[in-house]
Amino acid sequence: MGLDELQQKKLNNWMSAKSVCAGCPACGLNHWTGGDVIAGTVWSGSAMQIGGPMVPMVQLICDNCAYVMLFAAVPIGLAS
Ligand SMILES: [Zn+2]
Repeated sequence: MGLDELQQKKLNNWMSAKSVCAGCPACGLNHWTGGDVIAGTVWSGSAMQIGGPMVPMVQLICDNCAYVMLFAAVPIGLAS
């Protein structure tokens, strides 16, 4: 599904405000596109908690090699 135009703008503004301009750790280029907001499940130490708290994260996908970087979506304003 990916980010809509407003979400992509929010992500770009947040990256600029936080000076996030990292080169891709896999290929070194600095061309990223926002992916989806996803939610990882919490690992309790012995089992995955289904239906428990989740951490929304936004994907940043390298345009060259498809490496995926994740950032917490709530502080960026992409999830509540
Ligand atoms: Zn890359």
